[in-house]
Amino acid sequence: MAKLTEKNVIDSLLNEVLENYDETQHSLINEAFLYASEGHKNQKRKSGESYITHPLQVAHYLSRLNLDIETIIAAFLHDLIEDTDVTYNDIKKKFGIEVADIVDGVTKLDKINYNSKEEAKADAIRKMVIAMSKDIRVLILKLADRLHNIETIQYHTDWKQEKIANETLYVYAPLAHRLGLQSIKHTLEDISFKILFDKQNKEIQDQISQTHPDRKNQINDAVDIIKTLLSDNSISADVFGRPKHNYSIYKKIVNNGLTFNEINDLVGIRIITDDVKNCYTILGLIHANFQPVLGRFKDFISMPKFNLYQSLHTTVLTSNGNKMEIQIRTHDMHYRAEYGVAAHWKYKEKPSNDLQEWTSELSEMSTEYPDPNEFLKHMKLDLYENEVFCLTPEGDVLSLPQGSTPVDFAFAIHTQVGEKLIGAKVNGKLVNLSNELKSGDTVEILTSKDKSKGPSRDWLNIVKTTRARSKIRQWYQKQLKDEDIQKGKTVLNTWLDEHSEVLEAKSKDQIIHELLSDMKLPNIETLYQSLGNGNTGVNIVGNKILKLVFPGDISIDEDLYSPERKSDSKTDMIIVEGYDDIQVRIAKCCVPVPGDDIIGFVTISNGIAIHRSDCLNVRIDLEKGERIVDVNWGYTPNTGTIVWMEIEAIDRPYLLRDATIAISDNGGNILVAKSVTNSKRIVSLIFQLEISDSDQFETILKDAKNIENVFDASRIFPGKS
Ligand code: MN
Repeated sequence: MAKLTEKNVIDSLLNEVLENYDETQHSLINEAFLYASEGHKNQKRKSGESYITHPLQVAHYLSRLNLDIETIIAAFLHDLIEDTDVTYNDIKKKFGIEVADIVDGVTKLDKINYNSKEEAKADAIRKMVIAMSKDIRVLILKLADRLHNIETIQYHTDWKQEKIANETLYVYAPLAHRLGLQSIKHTLEDISFKILFDKQNKEIQDQISQTHPDRKNQINDAVDIIKTLLSDNSISADVFGRPKHNYSIYKKIVNNGLTFNEINDLVGIRIITDDVKNCYTILGLIHANFQPVLGRFKDFISMPKFNLYQSLHTTVLTSNGNKMEIQIRTHDMHYRAEYGVAAHWKYKEKPSNDLQEWTSELSEMSTEYPDPNEFLKHMKLDLYENEVFCLTPEGDVLSLPQGSTPVDFAFAIHTQVGEKLIGAKVNGKLVNLSNELKSGDTVEILTSKDKSKGPSRDWLNIVKTTRARSKIRQWYQKQLKDEDIQKGKTVLNTWLDEHSEVLEAKSKDQIIHELLSDMKLPNIETLYQSLGNGNTGVNIVGNKILKLVFPGDISIDEDLYSPERKSDSKTDMIIVEGYDDIQVRIAKCCVPVPGDDIIGFVTISNGIAIHRSDCLNVRIDLEKGERIVDVNWGYTPNTGTIVWMEIEAIDRPYLLRDATIAISDNGGNILVAKSVTNSKRIVSLIFQLEISDSDQFETILKDAKNIENVFDASRIFPGKS
């Protein structure tokens, strides 16, 4: 007897599906139904019903949305690949590639493992679902599938119910909203809300019955009053009390921080009429007969929502002072509000307004494909076409650019996972590391425990993300750095061996301690690295050591900042009034440049020092016979000007080399170079240059600023602090 009842239900559902389609399509629908029945014949739903009732219900729901025949066929077949021996190719051979692709798409969506309770992750999963659906019909079919599953969820165990409800509330209900499928959305939300937030749901129910004990009567009274008002004015319209959705009340309280009393639509009325003109006439009548609540009127007819929703909303006060929200719309608008995107091919109409984001292409599409079924096929979900969404074995979603490989994935998880990567499994199978990942792939990274294991240089050719690329390069730079440190250590030890007198005077530890503080270096590795990569010459360090160990033996002239012997040629360019042959030297404190205002400073033992006239270091001691003399530049312009420049950068290997190239490539002649690294890994490179003109210097500065890691390059005036 029970068997007969189920057969009756199945027959009548199938007949209702058939009624929505041309007779020419009936044999195809029957064929799909029989094929699915055969495939699932030994399977039962958790409810004890034959499995075929499920695909049939899904097809039935979609037929009410007037979806095209391919989607209906796919609805019958949607669980065959997953649950039976039927393959993609079997379906393709029997029903064509379009149907097979829709079924395949739904099957892939079933594999997404959403096991997170964090709402933040849901956004990534939603994008993944959209990216994987590609065809909007896949997504609508999946939503209809989920609708039937949630309506029959009571047959699952508690933990399974919770898992399904969680995924439904945070992934599928928002997607239904995006597509404007309000009727699906509300059912998905109401049932999942009850499962996940049972206490909150009951609390809201209690609040409603406490604050609005006679809510049902209030609504019925309001409906009657409005019906009378409309018929008195000869306007035909349907008036309904609006169903309440506890989840939307809950969301308003939680998200908008509203108190229960501030919620306006506990009592709701919906008026559905024939045309737009009537909507506004009705609005006028309502506002003339009830007191409107200020700021609550919204015209979504002239300004539709992003998901195509159109309606007039207003809130008014009833005679007993309660707020009542009223929605006014046409039948078409109402259908679209309930069925969203799906309504477009039912009504064969074009959307009339610009819409945001993905729906924006609807209007373009509908012009291009006036036949709604064509329109539907070409409405591709390529919103995230430049991204792929992949899962870790734990179910976390990573978004990567199209074309990314397991190497990118590994570096996206963690730098060390990338560095230690030795292989990858995609959907459980070992793959070549150059394989491109697809949305929905679950990627498992295999790593080596070998501490010395590093990334392969070849990976630079197969990675897509800048992160992976730069992490691989950084690893090699770090190896180079380690090599430089080893090299620098050898260089310094060799120098110390050759200068045994130094170690006889002081211990090595003591020397290094003093050297680091003198050079303002954070640690010995920095010094070794600088020696190893050639940024600092061993003779410079050697001289410093000699100076520290044997102070007084080294002339101050050998200080790095002094313009070396080359300055001889420059002092030739200075004319001292009244003297033909007198020893002149450029002061190391301010290093005047030809063109600078200069003065001569007569010292007792050392001839005349040339300072910039604004140099703060000139302290005249008259008792020692010191005095100022007039001096002038005697140089011929355009033969070469001396300038100082400073390049500031975050330290890296070969920085000095690159800076040198930037200068010499532009014809600058380097006279002095000095590098100082401070403890924050900021390096300051100081150059004294001979240049021909200011244009050339500008070019050098510009090129220097473009060097990787450099954050500033400018002219400096030593001594003028
Ligand atoms: Mn299903």
